[in-house]
Amino acid sequence: MRYADDAEPVITLTSGPVNAYPDVLRGLSRTVLYDYDPAFQIFYEMVVEKAQKAMRLSTKPVILHGEPVLGLEAAAASLISPDDTVLNLASGVYGKGFGYWAKRYSPNLLEIETAYNEAIDPQAVRDMLKKHPEISVVAVCHHDTPSGTINPIDEIGAIVADHGAFLIVDAVSSFGGMKTHPEDCQAAVYITGPNKCLGAPPGLTMAGVSDRAWAKMKANAAAPRASMLSILDWEKAWSRDEPFPFTPSVAEMNGLDVALDLYLREGPEAVWARHALTAKATRAGLRAMGLDLWAASEAIASPTTTAVRTPEGVDEAELRRQVRARYGVVFSSGRGETLGKLTRIGHMGPTAQPIYALAALAALGGALNAMGSRADVGAAVTAAMSVIDADA
Ligand SMILES: *Cc1c(COP(=O)(O)O)cnc(C)c1O
Repeated sequence: MRYADDAEPVITLTSGPVNAYPDVLRGLSRTVLYDYDPAFQIFYEMVVEKAQKAMRLSTKPVILHGEPVLGLEAAAASLISPDDTVLNLASGVYGKGFGYWAKRYSPNLLEIETAYNEAIDPQAVRDMLKKHPEISVVAVCHHDTPSGTINPIDEIGAIVADHGAFLIVDAVSSFGGMKTHPEDCQAAVYITGPNKCLGAPPGLTMAGVSDRAWAKMKANAAAPRASMLSILDWEKAWSRDEPFPFTPSVAEMNGLDVALDLYLREGPEAVWARHALTAKATRAGLRAMGLDLWAASEAIASPTTTAVRTPEGVDEAELRRQVRARYGVVFSSGRGETLGKLTRIGHMGPTAQPIYALAALAALGGALNAMGSRADVGAAVTAAMSVIDADA
């Protein structure tokens, strides 16, 4: 085999963590300032302002200093009180997983669960809220990454707002790669991070928190304080005039700063467009190769990850091993329920470039052929190219 396990792969086309932009890597090499140095405090405030601009927020976002799972767990701990009734919307592994956290903070959990290749139907949410007026918190995952499917969160957000409940959104793997912002979906708490579509390493959470959510967290006697799970501790940390509750991740802030600059400078619409085009070309190629998309319909297929169903008789782990060993390309597996059933090709940040669709298709098709399946790589590349060229 050409590419050994202990050597770096040539192209990482995963759905997170993703390759960082070279400029982000240079940013990470900046010196590590003392967190109480005024230069760092001024810098921190400036990064938060950039995040606010990128997230199109009217309030200051909160940076938490751990990868976005910290932010999701902190959202559950801080917002949900024991007398809340939570409606969890689960269309995949992450959505389902949030329910377990929610249950830790309130025993009252209702759930709408779909098949993991489908999306949540807003009408089902409307019906559930009507049937259960006591629902006070709703949680939804925007892009359930292990399925590569998108939920209609803006529509769901409007329904939840009408009901007067608080919406918690996991937008970790969609923000920065498609049009989504906390206020578009009227989120109470909106969690994202730098390590997916912004092309920076894992290590931080960016959270949008509405004024109403701040008030609820403050009134929640069970909300953690003096804890890494506390959102309240960090409320004022954005300001150069306030001390940090704990040491922030200085180096990660340097990386985030550059990632936000890149995103804002290129222009969000242009960034979203290259994510969408890369995914569209990949889907066209997969279909031309005779493979099935995991998503039940093209309309709910993610622009930041393409999940392809594992062909009958193929061992999915072996397929990814072949792809890496033969071509030096890395894809993501499924997770939990979707493990073994699909392979994920990420289009996030620096890998959201149409040319990577061709590399992904060639590597996948080549490995399938080597394993005795029949995959028409030529047809796949031609189909992907026609999508790319039609856009030029
Ligand atoms: C990546 C991701 C997270 C962060 O969690 P990890 O699994 O630890 O990377 C959370 N939610 C979604 C939807 C994600 O894609």
